[in-house]
Amino acid sequence: MAIFANDPTRTSWLDVPADSDFPIQNIPFGVFLTRDDIITIGTRIGDTAIDLGAMHQLGYFSNIPLTDDIFLQDSLNDFISDGKNTWRAVRNRIAEVFDNANPELRDNPEHRSIILFDLDEIEMQLPVHIGDYTDFYSSREHATNVGSMFRDPENALMPNWLHLPVGYHGRSSTIIPSGTPIRRPNGQTIAQGADRPVFGPSRRVDFELEMAFITTDANSMGEPIPIEEAEDYIFGLVLFNDWSARDIQKWEYVPLGPFLAKSFASSISPWIVTLEALEPFRTSSPAQEPQPLPYLRQPGPGSFDINLEVDLIPEEGDPTTISRSNFKYMYWTMAQQLAHHTSNGCKVNSGDMMGSGTISGPTPDSYGSMLELAWGGKRPLELPGGGTRTFIEDGDTVVLKGYSKKDGLRIGFGEVRTRLLPAISL
Ligand code: MN
Repeated sequence: MAIFANDPTRTSWLDVPADSDFPIQNIPFGVFLTRDDIITIGTRIGDTAIDLGAMHQLGYFSNIPLTDDIFLQDSLNDFISDGKNTWRAVRNRIAEVFDNANPELRDNPEHRSIILFDLDEIEMQLPVHIGDYTDFYSSREHATNVGSMFRDPENALMPNWLHLPVGYHGRSSTIIPSGTPIRRPNGQTIAQGADRPVFGPSRRVDFELEMAFITTDANSMGEPIPIEEAEDYIFGLVLFNDWSARDIQKWEYVPLGPFLAKSFASSISPWIVTLEALEPFRTSSPAQEPQPLPYLRQPGPGSFDINLEVDLIPEEGDPTTISRSNFKYMYWTMAQQLAHHTSNGCKVNSGDMMGSGTISGPTPDSYGSMLELAWGGKRPLELPGGGTRTFIEDGDTVVLKGYSKKDGLRIGFGEVRTRLLPAISL
């Protein structure tokens, strides 16, 4: 079955503003609460949200074998479990229904009033029930910067780093959708030169510019996923802000890795953009030297050209873009991450989420965290409205955005927006 939905020449009878992240070629998937307080699975074209549960009930998917309630759910897990052929058939059918030349729904005002919503009539939810969340550490620039600051610039990368995608198992209970504010965490930290730690609000709250991919059921326990099949099990991607408390992290991470410095919050954009919609933007990842072991050798280009941006908005002040990076800078690809993750037989389920790790580029204005942008507090960032930042302050809002653009086609992710509130007082 061809990816008919990606036809770049198609236009929709729905209005799509210029430079929208959501043209008819995107067709992302999300979960929202409607004006009638009903939860449903939906998609989006331009600034119109589309209730796929209602479309299915009204017969618009009768040519695709789907269970009756597949879209009347509070998560995409079951739909994702249906697999790649179903995702493709549904995206193709949505493209057909909303094609400019198709009168089926266009000329049926009663159905339109049931199926279509303005964005201000809906409330986006988490798109999947995330059973397990893994975070990788796959940007060479980020790992080099952090290794230089925390250890030694001469040996910034650990000996394993060029041989495997380093990762750790994160906490899924505190992954939240865009728009949900978070609190500065309290935790244990130790001052430079002190011999005892203290407990209190973190003084070094940071964002991490990441993307995350969401998987379908991929394997049985004990079975690895071969690298050449790995992408078949990736449903799509979201923007991912992996909030971090650097002072807590520095004290607690030895020897088992990140723990409470990371588990207080991670924010995601609510629309999952499918890997298929990103296909026109496929590109090569950085050359890998030394060559990885055979189970990590990916045939063909395994990355995607996705422009990324971080905006900081002080409580009173204008937004400043503090970083511009790109997903293609990642050294290890998603297929390599998934093949490595399952190489020991670890089971991956529908709705699992895998963070890329902070995506830093080669230049100082492309670093993906305050830790790197302000170099551990040594080079404060100047904000144009006055003031400086070394880390994120109470009342600040951090917004991550991402989009791909080529030959006039723009496919984007919207944004993930999070405001930092003061710590709970002790
Ligand atoms: Mn992270």
